Amino acid sequence: PSPLLQGKRGLIMGVANDRSIAWGIASACAAHGAELAFTYQGDALHKRVKPLAESVGSKHVLPCDVTDQASIDSVFETLGEAWGELDFLVHGIAFSDKNELDGLYLNTSRDNFLRTMDISCYSFTAVAQRAVPLMKNGGSLLTLTYYGAERVMPHYNVMGVAKAALEASVRYLAVDVGGKGIRVNAISAGPIKTLAASGIGDFRYILKWNELNAPLKRNVTIEQVGGAGLYLLSDLGSGVTGEVHHVDSGYHTVGMVAVDNAAA
Ligand code: NAD
Repeated sequence: PSPLLQGKRGLIMGVANDRSIAWGIASACAAHGAELAFTYQGDALHKRVKPLAESVGSKHVLPCDVTDQASIDSVFETLGEAWGELDFLVHGIAFSDKNELDGLYLNTSRDNFLRTMDISCYSFTAVAQRAVPLMKNGGSLLTLTYYGAERVMPHYNVMGVAKAALEASVRYLAVDVGGKGIRVNAISAGPIKTLAASGIGDFRYILKWNELNAPLKRNVTIEQVGGAGLYLLSDLGSGVTGEVHHVDSGYHTVGMVAVDNAAA
């Protein structure tokens, strides 16, 4: 069988290092024949992202801070000129002030609320706006979310509220662009030790809790998220849109763990 993404071109946004979830998805896509472009946030990350991009043969490594409209525009202008069209996009971007990923949601400031929503939710819509005109033969847009959108998780706070809005935006976007043969989905990943996750209070405890209480009794890896990403980005997922697909060792299915099975 031919590789699933042979001849397809995709933009990967949100790689910070080789532990990033976006890198797990990019690796799976590259292994299945995709040609990739990458964005990085700020000069400090360029030196990390460039060698990763080059290791999968990428020729396009572009700066992009999603709070800056002009920087988003310039990514899509560059890709429009270089490729003329785009088949898929991965959005693995989120940010909130570390001080508010601890303690009570009740204490969220207006500034951080707006910033978290801008970077973690609106940016997906902003990039979709610019990607859709390039998806001339249909396409697939994918973002990353977390169970804290659906249920209260300790310390996730304003990020949970932003992820809930992100998941709703996946459904609205899916309807808006479905007629063009473009699909929009999210993967709800279980906790993974990454740069972004290290900002969340008691993250090690959250990891341990999931490991002990998820049906599979282990945490997920970026390779496992990559596998699900490949399915949603390729024709394997051609019947799927507006979906939030959990890759979390089944944790979201559990209401209560039996006593003989409990974490304690
Ligand atoms: P990561 O730190 O590797 O990636 C986060 C990325 O967001 C970084 O590349 C960072 O540069 C980028 N970013 C932040 N602000 C930006 C801005 N203004 N402009 C452009 N880029 C910006 O961490 P990750 O865990 O791989 O995060 C990727 C996605 O997965 C995020 O949406 C995160 O919420 C989500 N997620 C993570 C977990 C987890 O446990 N790690 C679980 C579920 C969902």
